[in-house]
Amino acid sequence: MLAKLDQIEQDALEALAPLTTEEQLEAWRVANLGRSSPLMVVFTHLGQLSKEERPAIGRRANEVKGELEAALNAKNEVLQSDALQRALETERLDVTLPGRELPVGRLHIVTQTLREIARVFGDMGFQIYRSRDVEYDEYNFQLLNFPPNHPARDMQDSFYIEGSVDPDNPILLRTHTSPGQIHAMREITAQYPHDPPPIRIILPGMCYRYEQISARSEVQFTQVEGLAVGHSITFSDLKGTLSDFARRMFGQSVRSRFRASHFPFTEPSAEMDIECFVCGGEGCSVCKQTGWLELLGCGMVHPTVLLNGGYDPHKYTGYAFGMGPERAALLRHRIEDIRYFWSNDLRFLEQF
Ligand SMILES: [Zn+2]
Repeated sequence: MLAKLDQIEQDALEALAPLTTEEQLEAWRVANLGRSSPLMVVFTHLGQLSKEERPAIGRRANEVKGELEAALNAKNEVLQSDALQRALETERLDVTLPGRELPVGRLHIVTQTLREIARVFGDMGFQIYRSRDVEYDEYNFQLLNFPPNHPARDMQDSFYIEGSVDPDNPILLRTHTSPGQIHAMREITAQYPHDPPPIRIILPGMCYRYEQISARSEVQFTQVEGLAVGHSITFSDLKGTLSDFARRMFGQSVRSRFRASHFPFTEPSAEMDIECFVCGGEGCSVCKQTGWLELLGCGMVHPTVLLNGGYDPHKYTGYAFGMGPERAALLRHRIEDIRYFWSNDLRFLEQF
């Protein structure tokens, strides 16, 4: 019996040594000191032993019990101090560490460019007029002198809205900001039908064209349109205003030039170039060796468009222009691919 107690002690201590968690310790306690453990069975059967045997076995059994309990307590303490040590090491508060940096947002490069354009024209007395993104064909094309089947429409393939009620006047995402010209003129001439006041506005906004996406064209892009209507506005006003804009936007020494062009809603029409600010007009890859960068399209408002806006073309004249902030940003920062603007890549966006 004494040998059996020795064995119980040895087995229990061997089983205890490798344990590492509180759950394991509890299971060990139940198995070795619990009511049905081999040691406790010895205690239960003490009464059946002879008078001679009983004291020695009882003493030894108590000894083993005391040793197992002491071993359990010691093991428990070791586990707890290990856990504390680990916590101290891993959760140590290092007050010298720099704080976590808060991500600071910023305006999109196109918004920045748009605001700069708006600021320059704002200084020249233009107001901002916001117009809708979803338009009737009538406003997007017809009233701007693009009749149905006009070839110039081919340059502006469109996203049409399904379920448009009138097949002759479908609903589409605007392909340019120009429909805003009609809205703005009509808003003013509705209030002052007999003697409408002059207009000087810029119309910024997103435009949409159903185009092949490439490094040079996207299906959505922003545009800034400008419109000035009044008495005796001439082409020299247009040239003066836009040349001044180019100087304020790109630098006082920048030169500009106008080339004849065609748009249905202006007559005469022109494209405006500025001298390449990368090479200073010498010719480089950005300006394709021409020394000039195409900046915007412009022209005198077509009499039909004035009339559609409610202004009498015999009494009023005006000019209009349109440009793309993406294009201005492309040129300025030598960005090679227009798709970066809307691909939401922070590596690109964070540079501006
Ligand atoms: Zn150049």
